[in-house]
Parts: sequence; structure tokens; C-alpha cells
Amino acid sequence: MNNLQNRIDAELIKEAEILLNECAKISIIPHSGPDGDAIGSSLALHQYLIKKGKQAQIISPSAYPVFLKWLPGNSDVWIYTNGKKKAEEYINSSDLIFIVDHNSFKRSGDLEGVLEKATAKKIMIDHHPEPEQIVDLMFSDTQMCSTCEMMYEFIEALGDEDMIDESISECIYTGIITDTGGLSYNSSQPRTYQVVGSLLAKGIDKSKIHSNIYDNFSPDRMKLLGHCLDQGLEVLSEFNTAIITLTKEDLVRFNYKDGDTEGFVNYPLSIQGMLVSVIFIEKDDVVKISFRSKGDVPINRVARGYFNGGGHMNAAGGRTEKSLKDAIDQFKKVLPEFYNSL
Ligand code: 5GP
Ligand code: MN
Repeated sequence: MNNLQNRIDAELIKEAEILLNECAKISIIPHSGPDGDAIGSSLALHQYLIKKGKQAQIISPSAYPVFLKWLPGNSDVWIYTNGKKKAEEYINSSDLIFIVDHNSFKRSGDLEGVLEKATAKKIMIDHHPEPEQIVDLMFSDTQMCSTCEMMYEFIEALGDEDMIDESISECIYTGIITDTGGLSYNSSQPRTYQVVGSLLAKGIDKSKIHSNIYDNFSPDRMKLLGHCLDQGLEVLSEFNTAIITLTKEDLVRFNYKDGDTEGFVNYPLSIQGMLVSVIFIEKDDVVKISFRSKGDVPINRVARGYFNGGGHMNAAGGRTEKSLKDAIDQFKKVLPEFYNSL
């Protein structure tokens, strides 16, 4: 039954308790381009800290997708790029900073320099591999399916499970399902289901949450997906790999909004035999790349080794300043060697 117990380190939680007791003003920072897990865990932590009587503020380095805007507490989130001065003042006058769902200031986007210089104590809550020693207190566990799952454990370990209300539960549940493909990936352990069971017991409406996240495409977004899977798709059967390409012109044509391509990279994995799927998205001065794989194919190695990125074994990301064509050519060049190493 051991694996069903709280997995937060008991010694570390004592130190967190001290930092929480001592602090007056807290910043909560999700990663740049936040996803459901980053925003869900930040919102859950924020609501918990407010309930504890703390002054706390979520400052997201950049905007996030519209399908997360329904989340409870959404209107309390500041977007750094919409008000840099106010955000910097808040961070610089905080005495505690939570680095959430990332483990390197590089992933804090435009806030990288601000956080590096900030003198506040820092706590990391994260489940990504290879954490950097950038905080005073590091909760890092790659066995956790999501930072949201960790956030549940964190609050529970602090003895405050009863403070997890329906609204905090909705936020935590959102991160768990968005980071696990609706609980379908291997990353979710038996304990994950126990946590989900507790969240259900708090009264969350599972089907409403699924619908809010997944059934809210704009017509343009749906057409963009259609384009990706038709014109944009290339299947390299020899390497069990699929590539989706999206140009700047495609994004303009389909009236791209932040987050519109979220999840698109997963679709080609539904093609029989596919082990790897990659999407290349041409942005203004950078090509953003998302990688997904199945089973024990460590696609994060490719992200880390060639595309200035990283991530989990089956879900990774990166970027390059090369042209779209050169980025894809480079991927195709390294693919055979990577494939043969499997
Ligand atoms: P996505 O493809 O959804 O943007 O990212 C998938 C996963 O890859 C994220 O959860 C994160 O772990 C990782 N990831 C994405 N971009 C980067 C990056 O630039 N650097 C690192 N280290 N990880 C990334
Ligand atoms: Mn995550």
C-alpha cells in the first residue's frame, strides 16, 4: 500500500511550512506559454494561500489558451507582458516566490531575468526531469503525472486537505487530465486515481470540466486542425514518425489565437504504427516545436539535443531560430540515427 501514501518529503514540507509562516507576500509563477497543468496548479495554490490569509498573486510570463479561461480564479491572473512594471514591483516586493510546473528560469520566458535577480525565498513545485538548483526549497518529482497532482499532495502534506474545496479541486483536476491525456498515459500511477477520487468527492463536475476544456473550439481553430491533418501532415512510415508543419501564413489564414494548436501534435499518434509525432510552428522570429512519442521512445533527447528544449520522455518541446525548412531538414537528418538507437 506504500505507493498510495502522500509522496511529498516530510522534512521538506516542514521547511515549506516555516517559509509559509514567515512570509507576507507571495508570487506564483507558472511557465511561459502556460498549459492546463501550469495554470491549474497556480490557481489551486493561489486559492489555497488566500484561504490561509496570505497575500498572493499569480504572474504568468505570457498569455494562455482561451480553453483555460473558465477556470475559477482566472480573472486574478496577471499576464506579465500586459503590465510589466506592476508585475516586477510585485515580484520584487514579494518575500516568497513559487516556481510552478517548471524547473529552470529559461522556462519562465520573459520573467527569466526578473526571477534570477529576485531576492525572495523560492520554492519549486514541479514534475519535469533535470531540475536546476535555482530555489531554496525544491519539490521535484518526475513520478508525478502533473504538477497539479503534486499540488494536491503538497496541500495535503501541510495538513490542509480539508481546505481543498470544489473550486480548488476543479483547478487540480484540470491539470491532471490535461497532462495525462485524460488519464490515458502511463505517467499516472495508482495514487493518481486516489487523488482523482478525492477530487470527485469534493463535488467537481467531471463532464462539465471535460466539455469546458475540449469542446470549445472556435470554427477557425477546427479548420486549422483540419489543415494540419491534411495539407500540413507528412508521414515518415519508415521511421514510425509523423510531422505537422504550420507556416506563419497558415496561422494568419486561420486567425490563430494563443493556444489554438494545443494538443494538435497528439493526433498523428492515432495513425497505426506511429511512435513519434512532431509539430513545427513558424512564429515571428522562432520556430516552436512540440514532440510526442509512445512507450519508451525518449523523444525529449531530440528536443534537448537539437532544439534548445527538453521535457518528459513522451512529451517535449523546443525552439530554433533557424528557418522552418532548415528546422525540419535538421529533424529529418537526426531522425534515422535516433530511430536506430531505439
Ligand atoms: P508542449 O509541446 O506542450 O509545448 O510541451 C510539452 C512538454 O515539453 C512540456 O510539458 C514541457 O515539459 C516540455 N517543454 C516544452 N518546451 C520546452 C522547452 O523549451 N524547454 C524544456 N526544457 N522543456 C520544454
Ligand atoms: Mn505539467
